[in-house]
Amino acid sequence: MHLSSRVKGVSDSITQSLNEKASKMMDEGQVVYNLSAGQLPIKPPQEFIEKIQAQLNFLKSYQYSPVAGVGELRKKIADQHAKSRHISNENLDVILSNGSKQSIYFALGALIDPGDEVILLAPYWVSYPEMIKFWGGVPITIKSNVFDAFSPAMEDIVKALTPRTKAIIVNSPNNPAGVHYSEQWMKFLALVLKDYPDLWIISDEVYSSLVYYDPAPTYFYQHAPELLERTISIGAISKTLAATGLRLGWAIAPSQVVAGITRIQGQATSGPSSLIQRALLEFDNGLEEKFLGPVRVHLRKSASLVREMFREKGLQNLWYQSHSAFYFMLDFSRSPMFSRYIEEHGEGDHSAAICQEILERHGVVLVPGSDFGLTNSARMSLTMEEVPFQEALERLTSYLTQA
Ligand code: PLP
Repeated sequence: MHLSSRVKGVSDSITQSLNEKASKMMDEGQVVYNLSAGQLPIKPPQEFIEKIQAQLNFLKSYQYSPVAGVGELRKKIADQHAKSRHISNENLDVILSNGSKQSIYFALGALIDPGDEVILLAPYWVSYPEMIKFWGGVPITIKSNVFDAFSPAMEDIVKALTPRTKAIIVNSPNNPAGVHYSEQWMKFLALVLKDYPDLWIISDEVYSSLVYYDPAPTYFYQHAPELLERTISIGAISKTLAATGLRLGWAIAPSQVVAGITRIQGQATSGPSSLIQRALLEFDNGLEEKFLGPVRVHLRKSASLVREMFREKGLQNLWYQSHSAFYFMLDFSRSPMFSRYIEEHGEGDHSAAICQEILERHGVVLVPGSDFGLTNSARMSLTMEEVPFQEALERLTSYLTQA
């Protein structure tokens, strides 16, 4: 069958094939520990569930919402964003979409022309480069690693800026690194961005309240509010309300961009679920903090299990202490097994093959670092219950320590 060149240009996810393999192993009765999860293994807050149930009684919950979302909810989200970031709500407009993935995708569609460059900071969320390519844009990657706490050097960002650069995507807290950029880093970024007045900034903040070690994240526009004129902040209920399947996310941006995204959305999908929007409008967002309390305790506990076990087994250099979102990156290249691996397979990026070997030999599912723009590494989730998580860590560390 002849598929479009656009589709052919989009990469398949390696994670998907690993997950298929994991399901097959489970069907065969093997024990599998899936540490690839991108969601919390719990239901949303009970109060939110009750709001959804209550809204089931209204005709409007079953009918099209306005394309950009329910007006009162857009206003509520803009106000909350302004309040939590200590910025003015004056020029903030909002569009709601079927998950923030759609918000980011349509925002890129509203901004970039074919050939435009978009800067990504690696490690980056797996979907950014594919979305950029789909619109005909060119992803330009700037690397960082465990030594610089996964915060790319500002001079590298400056070097990558060209007259073709249309936008930069900044994701803090970061999926997959499990860290957020420091206040100092954000201040420097603000200074750099001020010098490039035609550059747009997509600030992906979907994990902003999933922080389990202080200090809380800050954002470049808090240090230079004039940057809000060209900032698109992304948010969602997926991660912070444990509601990935309800599909509601948003972009907060100046009205001209919201109008552009609305045009695409109107012809592509229409507005997001009326039911979920109406429930969120009724939901007291103050309850999010109460809901996230135990989640943060769990993540802190999982991160300390990793720290203790890695230290015990001499693997402490394999990771950088995570403090937000619910993942961290594991650097295979610094483990005792790696020299054996290189001897057998030669130099190169073996992220996917190593993840496959870990799955086949030890039943642990990880996401290869190559999905996030890093080599010889993997992303690991911290969401699993304590006992199986500890078992998974035992299996994983026995593999990593085998010289
Ligand atoms: N941004 C980041 C950094 C993510 O990790 C994800 C999901 O994993 C999303 C955006 C999209 O989330 P959703 O479409 O569920 O709102």
